[in-house]
Amino acid sequence: MAGGLATAPGRGVRIGADVLQIFSKQNTRWMGKALGEEEAGSFREEGARSGVRTVAIHCAYLINLASAKEAVRTRSLYALEDEAARAAMLGVPYLVMHPGSSGDDPEETGEGRITSALRAFGRFPRGVTLLLENTAGQGNSIGRTMEQLRRLIDASGAPPDIAVCLDSAHLFEAGYDIAAEKGWERLLEEIARHGIFPLVRMWHLNDSKTDLGSRVDRHFHIGEGKIGLPGFRRIVTHPAFRTLPMVLETPKDGVDEFEKDIQNLAALRNLCDAGDRE
Ligand SMILES: [Zn+2]
Repeated sequence: MAGGLATAPGRGVRIGADVLQIFSKQNTRWMGKALGEEEAGSFREEGARSGVRTVAIHCAYLINLASAKEAVRTRSLYALEDEAARAAMLGVPYLVMHPGSSGDDPEETGEGRITSALRAFGRFPRGVTLLLENTAGQGNSIGRTMEQLRRLIDASGAPPDIAVCLDSAHLFEAGYDIAAEKGWERLLEEIARHGIFPLVRMWHLNDSKTDLGSRVDRHFHIGEGKIGLPGFRRIVTHPAFRTLPMVLETPKDGVDEFEKDIQNLAALRNLCDAGDRE
């Protein structure tokens, strides 16, 4: 993050956020510069002073526990360990990770690699929970259905420190039509059937630039993509989800870096308020 980690809470204040998700290092690098206790301390102090709670660290994108290359899987495990250690030092409760992509290999092979890696990893540091994020299914990425998330967790031994983060754009791109009431009901039914409700700890709220079932992951501004506002109203007002932390991962393409974040946040808050009045 530009300007160092300790600037993150202040940036949250600028857009009126009360929770944040951050990258703890450059998101396209395997390892970051070692995190010092001083830097971690000032990050925690800034968080407490500003009242903006950093709820999650998003893992670097290179991590792929499902890779066909053993060397990549090994590096991924080390990188995950590094991310987990950073989360613990920064006092951040959730670590969000895309489960992985099996490339040209069948999905089941990829699932097996992910779950044996997670078993090998063992326990996360105290206070840190790994959240497996559902995916759009792009490039054979694993975790695009509730059934697949359930299998990943069960085959990892269902440890108490592994749960789920749902991303609205990825759901839609994977074929869950949350833009329509029927599609939303189908999603809820699958979440219930696979026992995912108690595992959902956080949401990524992004509209989708691509079509339903496209399996192409392109985030867009809230209400301006193919999901639209009614889809987001269903999420933010649902009794099982409304109190969970929700973060935006929408593009940074406004006049200034905060402009669109402020608009996206306002759009979502309107939906929550409308829900409260009902
Ligand atoms: Zn996401």
